[in-house]
Amino acid sequence: MRVFKFGGASVKNAEAVKNVGKVLQAFGGEEVLVVVSAMGKTTNSLELLAQAYYKNEPSKQELFREVKHFHDEIISGLLITKDSQTYADIENLFIELDCELENVADSNFDKVYDQIVSYGELFSSRILSAYLNESGIKNRWMDAQNFISTDNTYREGKIDWDYTQLLISQKLKPIIKKQMVVTQGFIGKNKDNFTVTLGREGSDYSAAIFAFGLDAEQVTIWKDVAGVMNADPKKYPNAIKIDAISYPSAIEMAYYGATVIHPKTIQPLQSKKIPLYVKSFIEPEAKGTLVGISKELENLPPTIISKSNQVLISISSKDFSFIVEDNLSNIFTVFADLKLKINLMQNSAISFIVCLDNEPQKIEQLMYHLNVNYNLTIKEGLELITISNYSENSLKELSSGKSILIEQKTEKNIQVVI
Ligand code: ASP
Ligand code: MG
Repeated sequence: MRVFKFGGASVKNAEAVKNVGKVLQAFGGEEVLVVVSAMGKTTNSLELLAQAYYKNEPSKQELFREVKHFHDEIISGLLITKDSQTYADIENLFIELDCELENVADSNFDKVYDQIVSYGELFSSRILSAYLNESGIKNRWMDAQNFISTDNTYREGKIDWDYTQLLISQKLKPIIKKQMVVTQGFIGKNKDNFTVTLGREGSDYSAAIFAFGLDAEQVTIWKDVAGVMNADPKKYPNAIKIDAISYPSAIEMAYYGATVIHPKTIQPLQSKKIPLYVKSFIEPEAKGTLVGISKELENLPPTIISKSNQVLISISSKDFSFIVEDNLSNIFTVFADLKLKINLMQNSAISFIVCLDNEPQKIEQLMYHLNVNYNLTIKEGLELITISNYSENSLKELSSGKSILIEQKTEKNIQVVI
């Protein structure tokens, strides 16, 4: 059994959807589960839509029409006719969404968000499934919410692993044995029967959850890049593709901010030793990258991961006490309560410096709490660069002309804030 995940870029217009058909024709075959994301940037549009309805903004109906129009164009580009069952199914989904939007005001926003934003994946999976069936790639559409069971953490659902595994292996597996199934990434359902999403870009994670439950032989994430690269090719034209990488190195790359694979994806695969291939849907014959178990995979080139929009906060105590155990524990408690993730930290006797993603609201609260006992200074608009397997040259090249505010080295990694 194999799991294929297609992201938003792979279904961003009718031509792209047709290309997914070609990839499945060539590489699909028996016992395949297809997990698909929302088309193009639909999730962003639905986020705006949810907000607009929640706040009753005048733009709300226009936004709804835009989302509908975008999908209608794709449907007509795929020559799905208006009197077909498919067209009716999708039309019905839009009516459901419309009704859902009428009731948004009296609930908490995160819950509303999930009920609305999840439609992106429902639309894309319906359209893809119908198109594939019409072009002879027989498949069955299924709702991922029937299998992925979560807690009530809206927008960042935590998986109930035992129950999810049971549902996938008992209810979904027998169906995939008979025919290809098309389902959605990103969404699950809680015990109260409400949709819960798994966090932005969570479709990779869904693919891994399904693979875990199915004891799949492999997962392939089909992307618009050749595989996992050693740097972002948009920023670094000399970036090269990595042929193979071990699970721990892939987890580390995701942790430092590489966006090619969602950070939560690797763990379920690693625990069942399921290999992950990252391949290009533009050049599907090319080899791509294998993420797997072998130690031989560790011979990596220097990898460069950069995170922009960083802030540096320097914290020192007002009473000039050392920043050691007591103070650190107070400071960390505030970070943990606000769920603020520290990307890099460094401390000296009387100060403590942290680098974080710029989340203005949370940082304002952080300042408010820490201001009581500490002096704080803050610098915005910075970049955090992590180089693994670094050489002094690679660092010089990257930071040339920019001042390095913090530098931290281990045997394998170097991190700088510039
Ligand atoms: N459509 C969702 C998002 O854009 C999930 C995904 O693409 O992985 O965040
Ligand atoms: Mg997406």
